[in-house]
Order: sequence, then structure tokens, then C-alpha cells
Amino acid sequence: MVEQVVFKVAGEKHRRKLIDMAQQNKDHQAEASLQAMIDSYKTILERLGEDPTREGLLKTPERAGKAMRFLTKGYEEDAEAILRSAMFREDYSEMVIVKDIELYSLCEHHLLPFYGKAHVAYIPNGHIVGLSKIPRVIDVFARRLQVQERLTDQILHCIQNTLNPLGVAIVIEAKHMCMMMRGVQKQNSLTTTSAFTGEFQKVETRSEFLSLIGSRLH
Ligand SMILES: [Zn+2]
Repeated sequence: MVEQVVFKVAGEKHRRKLIDMAQQNKDHQAEASLQAMIDSYKTILERLGEDPTREGLLKTPERAGKAMRFLTKGYEEDAEAILRSAMFREDYSEMVIVKDIELYSLCEHHLLPFYGKAHVAYIPNGHIVGLSKIPRVIDVFARRLQVQERLTDQILHCIQNTLNPLGVAIVIEAKHMCMMMRGVQKQNSLTTTSAFTGEFQKVETRSEFLSLIGSRLH
């Protein structure tokens, strides 16, 4: 009995040590990849004909590297786990809408921002979710290199797979800096994407959602 307890304690210590080592290894890798990114930004400044040692630019590679790391931190996060952490049993079965959710992402073609608003609705099927989790799910997918169409689909499927509601609807309206600052320079064009599952594939339900969010889609 005593021997067993000692063995258990030793096992626990060993397990914690392994977890610590894995964490240290992860931190080390993250640090090395940040440093590589900083070096790359320095090279970009040089290629632009700039002097990376002048005062205003001295810390720019580091700031840019850290900003890029922040803007893509969604790769490290699990959107379904976030939703599952705040799911509650509830018999409510009316449409739940979260609209005008601010959204900031980076287009994967130019690494330039696109930003706008997302509107999400679902019809519960026995479970609801804490409303603050919907914007968090959007952030997880938006903070990756994206195209607006895939971002729309990923949010839709995440909610559908986790909550298993009777239907999910999503509309994203965004402006793309790659269109506004370069190329066609269409400064006021808004790109709208939408996706629907279940009940929202019915015209009446979808129209109700679209009129509630005031979208020009319909
Ligand atoms: Zn682009």
C-alpha cells in the first residue's frame, strides 16, 4: 500500500516533468521562429533600400514580427473547444442572432488586412452557447491567413459541428485593403459572403435572418 503511494507520487512527478519539458520545448521553438521572422523583416527593409539601423526602424522588425505573430495566433487556438466550454442545455428553439461582430483578418494572397462585420445566427436544438463565445470563434479563424469565403465556411461548420443546431447562418461583409490600396483601387467596394445550413436553407427562415441583420443580400 505504502509502496503503491510512493510509486504514484513518483509517477506524478515524472509526468509533470515531462509536461514541463514539452512546454519548454514549445517555448523554445516559438522563440526561434519569432527570431527568424524578425530577421526576415529586417531583410525586407534592406531590400526596400531602407536602412534598418536608423532610429525609426531599429525596432521595426521586432515589432512587425510580434504583430504578425499576434495577427495569426488563431493557428494555436481551438474554436470548437471554446464553444464546448460554454454550452448549456436549453429548450429554447427560436433564432439566436449575434450581429455586427467586428472582424479583422489578413488575406492570404497579399498579407494585407481585410476587415468588416460578421452576422451569425443559429436555431438551437437542445443546446445554446454563451453569446460572447461566437465573436471568439470568429477571431480564432480570422487570426489566420484567410480568404473571406473559407473564413465564412469555417465559422459555419465550427458552430454546426459543435452545437449541432437546427441551422446556422452567417454573413460577412468586408473591405479588402488589397483591393483598396493597390490593383483596382476600388475604395468603397464591400465583399459579401454568406453560408447557411439546415433551416436557413429555407427561403422564409433565411429572409427573416437577412431582414433582421439589415443585409442587402436579399
Ligand atoms: Zn488580397
